[in-house]
Amino acid sequence: MLHIRVAFMSPKITTASALEMEKGALTRNYNPLPVVAAKAKGAWITDVEGKKYLDCLAAYSAVNFGHGNKTLIKAAKRQLDRVTLTSRAFHHDALGPFAKELADLLGMDMVLPMNSGAEAVESAIKVARAWGYRVKGVPAGKAKIIVAENNFHGRTISIVSFSSDESSRKDFGPFTPGFVKVPYGDAEALEKAMDDSVVAVLLEPIQGEAGIVTPPKGYLKAVRTITKAHNVLFIADEIQSGLGRTGATVQCQNEKVTPDMYILGKALGGGIVPVSAVVGTADVMGVLKPGQHGSTFGGNPLAAAVGLAVVRMLAKGDIQKRSQRLGKHLLKRLQSLVGKGVLEVRGAGLWAGIDIDPSLATGREVCEALMARGVLAKDTHGSTIRLAPPLVVSKKDLDWGIDQLEAVLAQMRAQ
Ligand SMILES: *Cc1c(COP(=O)(O)O)cnc(C)c1O
Repeated sequence: MLHIRVAFMSPKITTASALEMEKGALTRNYNPLPVVAAKAKGAWITDVEGKKYLDCLAAYSAVNFGHGNKTLIKAAKRQLDRVTLTSRAFHHDALGPFAKELADLLGMDMVLPMNSGAEAVESAIKVARAWGYRVKGVPAGKAKIIVAENNFHGRTISIVSFSSDESSRKDFGPFTPGFVKVPYGDAEALEKAMDDSVVAVLLEPIQGEAGIVTPPKGYLKAVRTITKAHNVLFIADEIQSGLGRTGATVQCQNEKVTPDMYILGKALGGGIVPVSAVVGTADVMGVLKPGQHGSTFGGNPLAAAVGLAVVRMLAKGDIQKRSQRLGKHLLKRLQSLVGKGVLEVRGAGLWAGIDIDPSLATGREVCEALMARGVLAKDTHGSTIRLAPPLVVSKKDLDWGIDQLEAVLAQMRAQ
């Protein structure tokens, strides 16, 4: 049968028309590359013109398991047909399994489900403060949390209150007090900042937005020792580093440390829905009582079903091993570019920060040249670019992507 729907069909969206519509209708809080995605599969994004791009950002690691991951889409579809939202005023049958299996995956006791990463960070801060007053006995209103310079933990008022990035703070004050910044990777500075009113240390095990900055060997262990000695909680923000990206379930496991709370987000939603969580020990998480914290959508049935499928995938361990194996290959190839337009390469698992020689090009210029060759990557802090392809990327595709970077740098050096 022929369906005649011309009258109702919206005109075909082109790159130009999409950008034109966004202009004026969308706040300009981002400066994206001019690629308009229409669909995606695995490690590849197809734009509205039909051009294919290798996704080397994976939505900042939210798409660790690949676009359109069959297992995850199936879990989501099944849940869509059953129940999608109840609020936490009632129970639903996906939440228990999600909480139990996520806690087990990390060797923890309790899960506090939220939606965005920033919300989970805020939640961990509230739990830490409540623990400080109720358990540690810090005088009311005096709790301090130590954070690292150049951190990225999200965009809420309280979180940008302790950011080092002026553009994320300017004109957004007044700010939330109670945070102290110390240099990242400096255990001595952390020890010096300790006093009786400190309730927690909040850190990224690897600083993602800062440019995949890895701390000196043994730093996280020192953080654990110092926090234990001072009866202070250690909160690991694994929103970007966790869930397979660094070749482990969480980066803390690579460093053989166990914090009091993990903060998870991004890939926990399988690239389908926003799912975040704080996962911690019962003596810490247990401070929350009914009515003291919550979220209408936190732990909703669709989120829990997708999150559970993510947890079960990670429980098998293959994806972490794949990330490790491909990551070693990626780093080795990137190291060979040092001196050829690259100043330094850092990384863990399938995650790399590449400092481009600023006299050659900005990170943005490299990303634009990569885009023209069919590779999508993201710059950060001037001349650093980061690569974080979906962990399901094939070795052949990964090699092709690195070939494009090599070609871009060679071309720029020749100019
Ligand atoms: C992305 C990110 C966040 C914030 O997550 P949103 O979902 O964007 O709110 C917090 N911490 C780290 C380490 C992140 O990478």
